[in-house]
Amino acid sequence: MAHTVAQAATEIVAAIHTIDAEDVPLRRALGRVLAADVMSPLDLPPWNNSSMDGYAVRSGDVRGASLAHPVTLAVIGTIAAGARADRPLGTAEAYRIMTGAPLPPGADTVVRVEDTDAGVERVTIRDDRDVGRNVRPRGEDLAAGALAVARGTRLDPAHLGVLASVGSATVRVARRPRVAILATGDELVDVDRFDEVRRGERIVTSNSYTLEALVRTAGGEPVLLGLVRDDPAALRACLAAAPPHDLLLTSGGISVGEFDHTRRVLADLGAELRFWRVKIRPGAPLGFGTWRGAPWIGLPGNPVSSMVTFELFARPALRRLQGVARVFAQRVPVRLTQRVVTLAGLTHFLRAVVHPDGDGVLAARLTGAQGSGLLTSMARANALLVVPADRQVVEAGETLGALLLGNETLLGESVDL
Ligand code: AMP
Ligand code: MG
Repeated sequence: MAHTVAQAATEIVAAIHTIDAEDVPLRRALGRVLAADVMSPLDLPPWNNSSMDGYAVRSGDVRGASLAHPVTLAVIGTIAAGARADRPLGTAEAYRIMTGAPLPPGADTVVRVEDTDAGVERVTIRDDRDVGRNVRPRGEDLAAGALAVARGTRLDPAHLGVLASVGSATVRVARRPRVAILATGDELVDVDRFDEVRRGERIVTSNSYTLEALVRTAGGEPVLLGLVRDDPAALRACLAAAPPHDLLLTSGGISVGEFDHTRRVLADLGAELRFWRVKIRPGAPLGFGTWRGAPWIGLPGNPVSSMVTFELFARPALRRLQGVARVFAQRVPVRLTQRVVTLAGLTHFLRAVVHPDGDGVLAARLTGAQGSGLLTSMARANALLVVPADRQVVEAGETLGALLLGNETLLGESVDL
């Protein structure tokens, strides 16, 4: 029995454990996944401070100030960002204060400079709209002991800023998963043999390039096992010599053709095979098992199928290997601009361009013909339109879900398909 897409993705992720962690300098941590919670050791901001250039005052001294009834205070000093007040603020006094500078004791208000005469010795205030305002309280961003960034977070630029603010010069992150990549097929050569491609004898192993790049975008470290002929002995030799890895991706040879040897060779080498068919298009042949303690995902050879199944199965697996809590891409609603017809019983993932339609919703159009060998259609797409297995015809104007490619934030704990 073939699995549904949701069953297959759930089973794969459930079989995967988070790998070990390492310490990296904060500057190198972009895109890595935090391995332990980071708490703030201090209040952030560490002191009450001004959010404006203006005058730090007591609210009682300026309440009621207006153009008709201005208030004049004695200016007793200037507090720059990085400086501190010499003495507390007294009644009918003001400090000039700059954005970010600590509020002097006694002050609870910063009057913006635009509402004053900008005086140096004495200042006249003509408006009381800032009473109680323009003060950023100590600990407003993070209180001491509060969670700054949670384990399982993929670090983006804002996270790096937060971690720097709480003193994390190095951070503990999941090691980059080593992903062994193997392409199979007698018809394939690498680009350095393009003369054979020109002569019409071979095609380039584009999957070797797309898969390596996909692994990198998912935070993995590709380990290239190369290109193997459709010959069980050659396949066995290549796999047996594979260096240690955290995930094995094979491309091709997973179907029921006479020259599809991947499954049998892996089984001969002691792999535990879990399933090899999924009710999906593109990408129906899709293998999963474990070998030498690491998960194996057997991707189909068709260039689009291997990329789509990477997104659906291998990318969540790589997230889980790195300890990401929410690993499954979630759909966003999109309105079809065209009629779509698919086959019964299979969940379809169609290459689409999604963009705002000017009407406050996202519109989706297909990139063109949907053959699983048409790699340029993948290159044009920014989303995969999901057509559920029970929908054969979807009319223009109807709403379906789409998975946005390259998105690392719309994620959930369970499969949204
Ligand atoms: P297979 O899954 O081995 O039956 O291959 C299905 C289709 O994908 C065939 O047309 C292959 O030529 C093509 N194909 C398989 N592997 C690759 C690859 N590494 N790069 C590009 N095309 C491939
Ligand atoms: Mg093949």
